[in-house]
Amino acid sequence: MGIIRLSGPRAVTIANQIVVLDLEMGESHKVYFTKAIDPTGQLIDEILVFKMCSPKSFTGEDVVEIQCHGGQLICKKILSAVLEAGAEPALPGEFTQRAFMNGKIDLAKAESIQMLIHAKNESALKAAKNQLDGHLSTKILKFQEELFYLAAILEAWVDYPEEGLEFMTMEDFAERLNSIKQQLLQLERTFRYGRTINTSTKLCLVGAPNVGKSSLLNALMQKERAIVTPIAGTTRDLIEGEVTIGGHNFTLIDTAGIRFTDEIVEQEGIRRSLQAKEESDLVLLIFDASRPLTPFEEELLAKHEPRKTAIIFNKIDLAHPEHQPQGICVSAKTLEGIAELQEFFISWIDKQNGLLSKEEVILVQERHFNAIKRTLAYLDMVETGLYSNIGGELIVMDLKAAIHTLAEIIGRNVTEEVLGQIFSNFCVGK
Ligand code: GDP
Repeated sequence: MGIIRLSGPRAVTIANQIVVLDLEMGESHKVYFTKAIDPTGQLIDEILVFKMCSPKSFTGEDVVEIQCHGGQLICKKILSAVLEAGAEPALPGEFTQRAFMNGKIDLAKAESIQMLIHAKNESALKAAKNQLDGHLSTKILKFQEELFYLAAILEAWVDYPEEGLEFMTMEDFAERLNSIKQQLLQLERTFRYGRTINTSTKLCLVGAPNVGKSSLLNALMQKERAIVTPIAGTTRDLIEGEVTIGGHNFTLIDTAGIRFTDEIVEQEGIRRSLQAKEESDLVLLIFDASRPLTPFEEELLAKHEPRKTAIIFNKIDLAHPEHQPQGICVSAKTLEGIAELQEFFISWIDKQNGLLSKEEVILVQERHFNAIKRTLAYLDMVETGLYSNIGGELIVMDLKAAIHTLAEIIGRNVTEEVLGQIFSNFCVGK
């Protein structure tokens, strides 16, 4: 199916010119089966038309949706017909922007639609739905309410220096302020987890030639991504693959086998693999379980960074039954231990995040995180101000700045420029 959507005060009048029924007379929130015609009166297609009158529509304006058959030419013809009748092409994200401008959704919710569309895994989808449901917005409004109350108290202290303290003591004020700060800090911390759900954890496969790095990458990707040959030094450049395991995205980077070599191409490959090792989140240090470690491998093992390294013994199918290597044992050939390796990746991520992923509201957008950070900086100034000789008027200003900054998350006090930036990332039609 193709959908052509019109929004705005003239949506119904314009759509009316290309259909063979009187849409102006039609009821709102009803679907009509009719025909679309071009300006010469020629039939374009049989269509379904939805009429949704303001304010009960996504944008809050009059909206008409035309559903036609999905062929490119049919859609184009209907589009041309409505443009000729006076419609204008929407800018990227314009529908959502109008919904925001008309107060149908706040900015955090508008952004969650973008997240929903681009979610690559279950965790990202869950966070996006949560934000669309308004959990973040509700939390922000609650913080705002609390801060407004404190601002009122501060103003009372300024206006009525004598009686002001009867409203609230300094200790109570400081305590309430601190409580909000702690909750904001907790929210700020969730970004450590939130930023990972839309990005990929980089896993870098490192080891001597022929230990089975490419084979392992293929086993994890469940397809033949890297070239596998028994000749040492086959993988000369980095090979990347994307996989989703347990709702998390991983980028697997297969590197050229690390060893000393004179060959120029291979040297470049080794340089790149050392760099990839530096840039990766977790290094998979791979050894061959069928043979003893070489002195070079002993050195690799001795020098590894435990915090970001997993020690893996591949070819366990060829290992001597008496030999039990100290590490995660797998076989890229028989797939023995691969499920355990995947579980290890997930538990590693969970460990990195602590319990943050269990929080009800999680910050996933950098813009929100920055706003919370700036709010906290203002609140720190308020706190410092309380215990210094700064005039109460100045403390109120800092507190109001904190409230303003917080409001940016839900779209109050944001500049045109910020709005433009947010909505230009949307696709046309959203
Ligand atoms: P790389 O140089 O580290 O990327 O190693 P490859 O993935 O190219 O593998 C080198 C050789 O080891 C190939 O002949 C693979 O078929 C073989 N190989 C890889 N993994 C295993 C395994 O788990 N068991 C067995 N028996 N052979 C394997």
